[in-house]
Amino acid sequence: MVSQRACLDHAIALTTGMTGPVFELGLGNGRTYHHMAQRVSGRDIYVFERNPAAHPDSTPPEEQLILGDVRETLPSTLQRFGASASLIHADLGGHNREKNDVFARFVSPLIEPLLASDGLMVSSDRMYFEGMSEEPLPQDAVPGRCFIYRAP
Ligand code: SAM
Repeated sequence: MVSQRACLDHAIALTTGMTGPVFELGLGNGRTYHHMAQRVSGRDIYVFERNPAAHPDSTPPEEQLILGDVRETLPSTLQRFGASASLIHADLGGHNREKNDVFARFVSPLIEPLLASDGLMVSSDRMYFEGMSEEPLPQDAVPGRCFIYRAP
């Protein structure tokens, strides 16, 4: 959580001049959504979740919750928003690292086209992007705990 928050704060600061939406992939307990909602201003935050079960205080308004499996909702989001996201955070995995890696390989090409130029993606897992570059982590993040990628 320390690394995740450090990476998120860093990415929020780096994208602060951008106006495109922020996407949170995986609501879980809503801790990272809640954290972002307190720090992001002037940008809508949409949360992607197949089974929302967080406390209401950490749940987005209905119109900003994109319900369903990201393997289906990410492609339909591309049709709706185009390449406009300023920041995407993904924390979709569980405890099985191998499974998380297979999933990251599957969703990487669904996430990449959603980002605006210079948009950032923060992930708990290594991603497999074609055209994005890996960014240095902030000082207080532990390498391997989170990854930051920048769209060209
Ligand atoms: N970052 C969250 C927090 O701070 O509370 C924790 C997220 S939790 C590790 C992962 C979440 O991703 C779970 O709520 C799970 O239901 C969701 N998830 C996993 N796979 C998904 C998928 N294919 N489509 C939509 N949601 C998914």
